[in-house]
Amino acid sequence: MTSDPPSLSDADALAALAGSFSGRLITDAAQMAPFLIDWRKAWTGTALAVVQPDTAQDVAHVMAWAHANRISVTPQGGNTGLAGGSQPAMQGRNIVVSTARLNRVRAVDAQNSTITVEAGVILQTLQQAAADAGRLFPLSLAAEGSCTIGGNLATNAGGVGVLRYGNTRDLCLGLEVVTPDGRLWDGLRGLRKDNTGYDLRDLYIGSEGTLGVITAAVMKLYPAPAAKVAAFVGLETAHQATALLQLAQARAGATLTAFELISDRALALVLKHFPATRPPFDSAQRWNVLLEISTPVSEAEGRAELEALLAAALDQGVAADAVVAGSLAQSQALWALRERISESQSAEGASLKHDISVPISRIADFIPAGEAALLAIAPGARLVAFGHLGDGNLHYNVSFPEGGDGAAFMALRPQINLAIHDLVAAHDGSISAEHGLGLLRRDEAARYRPAVETDLMQAIKRALDPLNLMNPGKVLPPL
Ligand SMILES: Cc1cc2nc3c(=O)[nH]c(=O)nc-3n(C[C@H](O)[C@H](O)[C@H](O)COP(=O)(O)OP(=O)(O)OC[C@H]3O[C@@H](n4cnc5c(N)ncnc54)[C@H](O)[C@@H]3O)c2cc1C
Repeated sequence: MTSDPPSLSDADALAALAGSFSGRLITDAAQMAPFLIDWRKAWTGTALAVVQPDTAQDVAHVMAWAHANRISVTPQGGNTGLAGGSQPAMQGRNIVVSTARLNRVRAVDAQNSTITVEAGVILQTLQQAAADAGRLFPLSLAAEGSCTIGGNLATNAGGVGVLRYGNTRDLCLGLEVVTPDGRLWDGLRGLRKDNTGYDLRDLYIGSEGTLGVITAAVMKLYPAPAAKVAAFVGLETAHQATALLQLAQARAGATLTAFELISDRALALVLKHFPATRPPFDSAQRWNVLLEISTPVSEAEGRAELEALLAAALDQGVAADAVVAGSLAQSQALWALRERISESQSAEGASLKHDISVPISRIADFIPAGEAALLAIAPGARLVAFGHLGDGNLHYNVSFPEGGDGAAFMALRPQINLAIHDLVAAHDGSISAEHGLGLLRRDEAARYRPAVETDLMQAIKRALDPLNLMNPGKVLPPL
């Protein structure tokens, strides 16, 4: 809760801010509008201004000003977050601190395999900078053309490379952060070993803008693979998919870089809404897996490895059909089938999303149990499950019954969310695997979290942001 009424009027406070930093100060309502609404257009906040500082020092000035005037701050990168964390609060005196102009690659240290970037660098730009240095920055997700590394860090984003390289937290060695009272912490250490006290870096990662503004980061780079080869595998059961994962990990080891599950219904929606796409094989299977090998040797070697792996899978009865991409274009066509699922589901009409994870050993049992719970509430609803099976993370989405009433289905959202999330909890899982809590899952997460965990999180929030100025109301229910 913010305290002490400010002594300056909003206009006077903004006039003081304008002279205190270099960058852009946006107060025009039309120009501010896109910064006030989230990606899914579910929440619209309010702000006195959108501030785009040029440097980390400028961010510090802005934060000191906000602190002095008791104005709350929502950091924002690409505004692609899916949990309602990046738009300002719906009431009160707020500003958005947009990192759009903090967009420099500060340094590449090829020998240390690190890159130091400012928070507003777009993920795709970071990937390209790594490629220009002959390295790989492995974080990859469908929003990579618009999301920023600061937002990826603040949400601890996952994506399709987690199986091999980990999530954003695993890719980060150091951070630079501005505290809610305007102090600049330089923790930009490119060290793989550093046991010198509490890990502040790990506190800020995944904190969704509620503890400070990340202004820069040191990220890990990896050797660029010589080639990537993808394959599409048809399966009869989800249990076969987890067995195939075991087999692929045993045979391909660290070269296995993606393992994505796609249900028949998810695939059918893509084929329906993207008429240029083609089914990968003639026989329609209940489940499909898109897997990818990144080889350090050559494309031919990668393909041979993948063919041998799939021959073994067919032999052992953990695959019913399989196709290995014969070219880069074919690999891309297979990936398109995975990447277009979300858009296809949106085009189909009313749908609900659950970004869940459960231990991989329990995922094959969870899937039908969730479907039974779903159908008990919404007969005819269509489960559209897909996602990062290799990480135990599924987008356990649901579309309205074919030919049914979308609005009536959406009215069942609370019951369906509750049933699915209760089942996730019963399977020792998480109700937000990679998208964070924001506003969307804030209260539900509190329901499943042990009381001591909530107490500790609130203690951290109070210690680092005693005036509750940082992105108030997100992640934790109001104190
Ligand atoms: C099409 C699409 C596909 C996606 N696919 C995936 C996926 O596969 N895996 C996955 O994990 N996520 C995915 N996402 C969501 C993902 O979390 C975001 O795309 C991304 O990580 C957020 O980055 P951003 O720069 O857009 O952050 P924003 O949306 O601007 O912000 C997200 C949160 O981070 C905070 N924040 C932003 N920048 C900073 C900063 N510098 N300092 C402190 N806090 C900050 C904000 O306050 C907010 O709480 C997808 C989103 C879309 C739209």
